Amino acid sequence: MADIRKVLVVGGGIGGLSTAVGLYQRGFDVEVVERDKDWKVYHVGIIVQANFVRALATLGLGDEAVAAGYPYKGMRFLNSDGSLITELPGDSTVTAPYPADLGLTRPALHRILTDKVKALHVPVRLGVTYSSITDHGDHVAVEFTDGSVGKYDLVVGADGAYSGMRTLVHSDAGKPQFTGQSVWRYNVPRPKDQIWLDLYIKEDRSTAGYCPLDEETMYIMAVTEEPGNPWIPPHELANEMRKRLDGFGGLLGDLRDLVTDPELVVYRPLEVCVLPAPWHKGRIVLIGDAAHSSTPHLGQGAAMAVEDAVVLVEEIAANPADFEAVMSRFMERRFERAQLIADYSIMLGEWQMHPEKADRSQAEVTDYVRKRVAEPI
Ligand SMILES: Cc1cc2nc3c(=O)[nH]c(=O)nc-3n(C[C@H](O)[C@H](O)[C@H](O)COP(=O)(O)OP(=O)(O)OC[C@H]3O[C@@H](n4cnc5c(N)ncnc54)[C@H](O)[C@@H]3O)c2cc1C
Repeated sequence: MADIRKVLVVGGGIGGLSTAVGLYQRGFDVEVVERDKDWKVYHVGIIVQANFVRALATLGLGDEAVAAGYPYKGMRFLNSDGSLITELPGDSTVTAPYPADLGLTRPALHRILTDKVKALHVPVRLGVTYSSITDHGDHVAVEFTDGSVGKYDLVVGADGAYSGMRTLVHSDAGKPQFTGQSVWRYNVPRPKDQIWLDLYIKEDRSTAGYCPLDEETMYIMAVTEEPGNPWIPPHELANEMRKRLDGFGGLLGDLRDLVTDPELVVYRPLEVCVLPAPWHKGRIVLIGDAAHSSTPHLGQGAAMAVEDAVVLVEEIAANPADFEAVMSRFMERRFERAQLIADYSIMLGEWQMHPEKADRSQAEVTDYVRKRVAEPI
């Protein structure tokens, strides 16, 4: 089989750009195609933990991420009136030199990654995707929507939660499935003394909270049960989000009235698609949400995408002449960990909708998973 020298990355999001940066830094010939010609991301926040920063740091981007975000103190679980249930302070002695918990805006993270690929002069074609991908065994032939063609030793599918490349690897992958819950997000100013991610748990089983993203900004998120996955008219989004925040007290109750602009509400039904092993077929491999799109209950989607990228790059660099060894080492190092996150995330959502199934609190599960993800990859 031919050595891996030339790689195409499909998708210029978190995992794809991390892969491109890593491969370029190790001397591989790498190109990216990104379908969105404006290369835009949602304006709201992203919550990550030390394992995300640690993985980015291997690409030389850890300090930038920390500087762009807000290392918040940890998580507090609250009753709906704002009274404290329990707190899980992040333990940065375990995660040093990186903060245990970090909030940052999605555009800030996007800027860090896109600035890096631009500085390295990695070729990125915007508004372009594949029109066909044919694996010939010793190379992959790709036709692009701009009429160009290319030959690659490996194609990395980093095309996100609604991946079209999934079916090239698992023809029976099916569509992402609605879990029964949706998430609402909205940015608000950060009160200067707000240094925790607070999660309020209401009797009707919905959860909502807020998390600092930088000195000035934090965002409110609410996870609610939405039977039947209703379509919500865009102009109603702020009203509907405020309704979902009814009945919450404390600071969240005060912040509720700031949710006024329907265009600034990011509303997403939670849809999951978690593939069995392997995540590759021939010379096509999937990473990130394309392989294991889960729910946001543990704030680990971005970290899993960057870790996938880092491990894939390490394995390719260690053994570029042995494709099968690269893929089996990649799966050995990634499958169980990504599955753990996906399973626990989906389970937490299930427990919120069916509390009788829960055998632990959300705080206990979160604490356990935070310890697991602090382990080396
Ligand atoms: C609103 C929101 C908030 C979130 N908050 C958190 C959070 O707090 N913490 C956390 O860890 N995770 C969070 N997530 C999940 C996290 O964003 C994902 O897990 C992560 O982005 C996965 O990275 P990825 O590279 O696999 O996919 P993405 O980052 O989604 O990137 C996929 C890229 O592929 C492109 N693409 C798609 N199809 C094609 C194609 N055919 N050709 C070329 N390009 C294509 C897309 O345009 C996109 O740029 C959130 C997600 C959303 C939507």
